[in-house]
Amino acid sequence: MDDLNYQIDLLNAMNRRLMDERKMLQLIIDTSSSAYIYVDFRDNSVRTLGSWSQFWDFELKSLSDFEKIFDTIEDDYIIPLRDTIYLEKKGLELSGVQAKRRTGAMWVECEANVIYGTDHKPETKVIRFRDVTKYNIQNEELTYLVFYDETSGLYNRNYFIRLLGNMLERADGQGETVAVMFINIDNFRNINDSLGIVAGDELVQQFGKYLKDFMSDNLLVSRFSGDLFCIAVYAPSGETSADHIYAKICEQMKKPISLSSGQEILLTISVGVAEYPEAATGALELVNCAEIVMFKNRVRGRNSMSYFTRGVLNEFLSNVEMENKLKDAIFSNNFMMYFQPQFRTDDGTLRGTEALIRWRDETGKFISPADFIPIAEQSGTIVPLGTWIIAESIRTYMSWKDIMREPIILSLNISAIQYRQPDFVENLLKVINEYNMPPESLELEITESVLIGDYQEIIKKLTLLRGYGIKISLDDFGTGYSSLSYLKNLPIDTLKIDKSFVDTILTDENTQVIMETVMYMAHKLMLETIAEGVETREQFAFMEAMDCTDIQGYYMAKPMPADEMAQVIKAGKSMIGVDEL
Ligand code: C2E
Ligand code: CA
Ligand code: CA
Repeated sequence: MDDLNYQIDLLNAMNRRLMDERKMLQLIIDTSSSAYIYVDFRDNSVRTLGSWSQFWDFELKSLSDFEKIFDTIEDDYIIPLRDTIYLEKKGLELSGVQAKRRTGAMWVECEANVIYGTDHKPETKVIRFRDVTKYNIQNEELTYLVFYDETSGLYNRNYFIRLLGNMLERADGQGETVAVMFINIDNFRNINDSLGIVAGDELVQQFGKYLKDFMSDNLLVSRFSGDLFCIAVYAPSGETSADHIYAKICEQMKKPISLSSGQEILLTISVGVAEYPEAATGALELVNCAEIVMFKNRVRGRNSMSYFTRGVLNEFLSNVEMENKLKDAIFSNNFMMYFQPQFRTDDGTLRGTEALIRWRDETGKFISPADFIPIAEQSGTIVPLGTWIIAESIRTYMSWKDIMREPIILSLNISAIQYRQPDFVENLLKVINEYNMPPESLELEITESVLIGDYQEIIKKLTLLRGYGIKISLDDFGTGYSSLSYLKNLPIDTLKIDKSFVDTILTDENTQVIMETVMYMAHKLMLETIAEGVETREQFAFMEAMDCTDIQGYYMAKPMPADEMAQVIKAGKSMIGVDEL
């Protein structure tokens, strides 16, 4: 009897455990986000479990209902899904396939598992469906980012270079050429600075759309970064030649781009073209060659396209060499300051002196600042170099203090990059204080390139400098976008009339008319006017007649070393007698 009681207790305990396990399994299935089908081949019954209703809107009652699943799946995915679901028929070891639903853009992953009896016949089967939509979308996005640029929808740089590599191989095989066009939107930085990054992105997107229209099997379009785009054309000729494509883009750009903010922007582009196999032997090299040409175009005046030549490459390489030499020169002190006097037109007295840098390289050769200053600006070397120029010029100026009859003005050339440094004003004031220079004797020459960018911020800085008594002079007037009307809004003291005006003043009637207007305006605004590059007596006489207040040029004196300048300062007037003037 005891024995029987013990067995009943044991059975009850086992039963409870089974019940507990059942409950646990049920709980797992109920809380699972997957849907399950359980098939019992012994009586061909079918049950659905888990989140079935979240996947399918029909019930599954018998094996034949499986077809209803396939009806909801896109054609391409039906066969692999069928293989998985009917695993026992194929006898394959299948681990999960993915299938796309016809509606709702849902991706399902399906896995199946069959248990076989001792007679090797299938006994039971479980099929599981999992929703992998989110995972797949993320994956798609990642794949997209690997190949495409998100903002423009064009190929990204890496993928473009890879495709270009394939294109070059194809060209080798077929004896064809490939042209690469490197495109840069002119003044994009200013647009971005003044309109904001969002508008800048919108502009890039719309411009990208223009380019996208050209895409074909033989034409790849890519956005490298910022406002840099690249096009590769297989076998360019006629309609697909770089010239033709450029003309078509320019045609499009005659219409302004309208931004969602309502602003309308007219764009121009600078383009460099390099052709394979003439310019380079590989994809990266070819792109670099096109970029060098584009860059040169951009510096030269924008809004144009030109082709790669060996000359352009050599020039680029010598610039790179110069950039390196320049960096060395800063450390080895191969620079010196020269000074060119400025005289008053009416009585020939000394008005001031412009500090002009000179560089003698290690071989003793003089390199013109017109050649190396742009390179120093490009490479950022201008910032330390500019700091040296300011200190050295002010130091020299103060060494003349005791020989000056009247306080004269020291004019310093300040490049836009220097001027944009946030601590520019602070540092300048420090040097002035250090050498005890009266700020009224200092004049900063800026060019119109300084005025590009955040206009209000620039005006604030100029006004601040003038608040300390420092004079501001607008250099090279007449070469930039110079419009007379904007002059009256600028906090400046002096207008330096560019040499190109002086060069043609005697012969060109237009120049004479412009000059009259400029002088009239300058007088009204009470600006001093300095004519630059006056080389002859006739030019001098003409500028004097125009009431130009000061003259600087070879006719009066060339730029000279500090000790020679000291002699001019002692004399206090032009070496050429006023009567001769
Ligand atoms: P810039 O500021 O327009 O300087 C005037 C240039 O014209 C100087 O050339 C000067 O030597 C030259 N010049 C003056 N009178 C005559 C003349 O009658 N005939 C001719 N043919 N030329 C004349 P330089 O010294 O070669 O400087 C060239 C440019 O390099 C300067 O043009 C300026 O933009 C830049 N530069 C020179 N020194 C500095 C500097 O210290 N800092 C910066 N940022 N730029 C400088
Ligand atoms: Ca100057
Ligand atoms: Ca000038």
